Amino acid sequence: MSYDALVISAHPDDAEVQMGGTIARLVDEGLRVLLVDLCDGEPSDFAAPGERAAQARRAAAILGAERLFLDGQDRLLGDTIPLRLQVARLIRIHRPQIVFGTTDACVHPDHAAAGALLSAAVFYARLDHWERVPGGELLADTEPWNVERLFFPHCKMEPPWGRDFAFAVDVSDTYDRKRAALAEYGSIFRVEEGDRLLTLYEAEDAYLGRLFGVAYAEAFKSHSPLLVPSPTVFLPGLHG
Ligand SMILES: [Zn+2]
Repeated sequence: MSYDALVISAHPDDAEVQMGGTIARLVDEGLRVLLVDLCDGEPSDFAAPGERAAQARRAAAILGAERLFLDGQDRLLGDTIPLRLQVARLIRIHRPQIVFGTTDACVHPDHAAAGALLSAAVFYARLDHWERVPGGELLADTEPWNVERLFFPHCKMEPPWGRDFAFAVDVSDTYDRKRAALAEYGSIFRVEEGDRLLTLYEAEDAYLGRLFGVAYAEAFKSHSPLLVPSPTVFLPGLHG
C-alpha cells in the first residue's frame, strides 16, 4: 500500500494537534495520508489502557487518514537504531513523496527523539545494500526510496515559533474536522470542561491565521529551501 504523505509522531494526538487541519486538507486534495505514532501513548492521564489508541483511530478517520502504531514506550522513546530501521522500512514500503515530523523539540524527550530519528530514517530509506550491513536485515528486502520533502509542523508543547517558519497552510475550511478529531482524545484532554491546552493550541492556530488574514493556519519548517513556479502562488495577500 502506498501513501502520498506520512506523518510520523511520538504519540497519538501529536499529529492532530500539530497539523490536523493540514491532514484533512491533503485528504480533500485526494492524497492518501498515513499517521504513524511511535508508541500507543500509554499510560494516558484519564483512561484505561487501550482507550487512547481507539480514540486515535477514530480521530484519524475523522481527518480521512489511516493510522498505525509502532511498539515504542511512551516516555522512554529514544533515537535508537532499531526504531530508525522500523521507520525507514515504513518509508520504503509506503513510498511517500512528503514526510512530516517533529523538529526543535526540547520540552518532552520523546518529541526530541522523534525528530532526530526521523531525519535518520529518511536518510536510511534511500540507501541500498542493507544486506551487507550487520543488523540491516529489516531493510534488505525493500527497495530504496527518496522522500522528496521533509516538513515539520510546530510541536505545540514547545514555545511558539513567532514568524520563524518556512510556510503556513490555510486550514480555515478544515478546522472543524481538526477540532472534532482532537475532541476524541478524552484520555488526555478534559474536552467537556474546555481543556486549557486545547484552548491554547487553538489560540495559536488562530494567531497564525491572523498573520495571513484567515481564520486558522498551521505553520511548517522545511528541511530544505522551497521553490515556487511563480510569486503569484502567494496571492492574494493581506499586508503587501
Ligand atoms: Zn506528544
